[in-house]
Amino acid sequence: MLGYICKYAPVEIFQAMGVEMERIEPDVANFNQAEIRMHPNICSFAKGVLEEVMKKDYEGVILTTCCDSIRRLYDVLREEFPEKFIYMLDTPRITKEAGIALYEQRIRVMIQEYEKFSGKKFQEDKFLEYLKERQEEQQYAIKNNSVNIGIIGARANESIKKILEEKGANVAFDLTCTGLGRKILADEKEILGGYVRGLLSQFPCMRMELASNRDELIRRFAGSVDGIIYHTVQFCDNYAYEYAWVKEWLDRPMLLLETDYTRQSSGQIRTRIEAFLESLTPDIPQPKKTGKGDKTMYVMGIDSGSTSTNAVIMDQDRKIRAFSVVRTGAKSGVSAQKALEEVLEKAGLSREDISWIVSTGYGRVSIDFADENVTEISCHGKGAHYFNPKIRTILDIGGQDSKAIHLNEKGEVKDFVMNDKCAAGTGRFLEMIARTLEVSLDELGAIALTSTEKIEITSMCSVFAESEVISLIANNKEKADIAEGVCHAIANKAFGLLRRVGMEPDFMMTGGVAKNPGVVRAVEEKIGASLYICEEPEIVGAAGAALYALEKCGFCFI
Ligand code: SF4
Ligand code: SF4
Repeated sequence: MLGYICKYAPVEIFQAMGVEMERIEPDVANFNQAEIRMHPNICSFAKGVLEEVMKKDYEGVILTTCCDSIRRLYDVLREEFPEKFIYMLDTPRITKEAGIALYEQRIRVMIQEYEKFSGKKFQEDKFLEYLKERQEEQQYAIKNNSVNIGIIGARANESIKKILEEKGANVAFDLTCTGLGRKILADEKEILGGYVRGLLSQFPCMRMELASNRDELIRRFAGSVDGIIYHTVQFCDNYAYEYAWVKEWLDRPMLLLETDYTRQSSGQIRTRIEAFLESLTPDIPQPKKTGKGDKTMYVMGIDSGSTSTNAVIMDQDRKIRAFSVVRTGAKSGVSAQKALEEVLEKAGLSREDISWIVSTGYGRVSIDFADENVTEISCHGKGAHYFNPKIRTILDIGGQDSKAIHLNEKGEVKDFVMNDKCAAGTGRFLEMIARTLEVSLDELGAIALTSTEKIEITSMCSVFAESEVISLIANNKEKADIAEGVCHAIANKAFGLLRRVGMEPDFMMTGGVAKNPGVVRAVEEKIGASLYICEEPEIVGAAGAALYALEKCGFCFI
């Protein structure tokens, strides 16, 4: 079996010779092996491919001259696996006649090399037969009555398409390196030349000369779908640059998804995709039921976060009857059960009295007593609109992630960004610093307000920031001043997120960190506006989930 990575790889040539071909899709736990052999800042895809090749028994790998990361990957693979067929196919950037002739010539050289390596023989007539069997045009299909999504950017792996399909969306096109279908031309007069023409006529990637027309082409494709997923890979400058450019002019809802090919990031990717789909399909207003004269109906929203699990019981008139906030322990399911029992007890109700339960938060799928789950992005949007309909921008700083959400006047999510890759600027970061300063989390915010000297914490990485705090303590700096510096560091990080969603007032802050007066003041100073904070900022997501539950039961309040 040979591995390959690029849509310009002449896969069918090998298949016609009876070789099994597999597109390498990294799915790794870490880059331990790759980072011994490559610089850690090489793109995650290239590192992931190396990890996969080290795990699997490929006979060889076909690479194309894509970028510096792939060049480096080639060098490492050649060195590590001298016995394998590691081949770098020099793909021309030009796709006109000269480029086609050049690519054909280079592919012929590759065939000779493979024949020498494997002892197999390439037969052009057999190849033609194979092409005729496989002939297919690039698939491109819009489905009516479905949310149509197009994928552009750097290589999108199958898991993204799977999540979209599971959620009922249609992947109308994939214009990334992985493509949905290959353009196969079987031309009897010009067998190899015709085949190469088909390969090079695929949607041009960023390294092709025709990339200068990508804006025109992207516009044309994007016009037919409901939303676009722009996929990038960690440390891939080529597509990160293009995303920043596309975002300026593309008039379509667009989600940026950055993959690092580790299994740990799959939950975050799912949340982003689901939230994006929810934002494209706002619920259809249903006739309002009053419930008057009937028995009161109750619903519940439960938000399973990394630090707290919060439950809200709401009645049919949208009144919050009770809520509970419990610390999330090692098992999110157990904490959810505790939050459920506590809120039922406070409301004087039993589980049978609750008509519908919607779960949200990072642990939403593991709450088995919930009837449905909705992402925390949509629930925070709905919850914020419920508490204050003037809110257009939400800053939610939770235990281990932070997000900024932009709402329209109906409380629907228009845009969102999340920081869930590191603890910097989150509740965990504050906890870590409070421990270092030997104060409680509650005290940290309060003492920050008494600061008299301005101290700047320059490290945004939580590990380095902790060392910085330790050296400030060693230099006899006041705890209050250090605490204030930490609050400002969080505010700076939050400001970056808020700017990315447009900073439309009014602003609301949610999540446990909204209870910290030091951080609240620092964020307000940074954005130059005041933050609306409701009485219990940790239950906004759960309240939003309860509102989704009410809508499910036919109580609509739009
Ligand atoms: S950027 Fe182009 S050359 Fe590189 S892997 Fe993607 S399709 Fe192939
Ligand atoms: S993701 Fe970007 S950096 Fe990585 S191989 Fe593809 S083009 Fe190169």
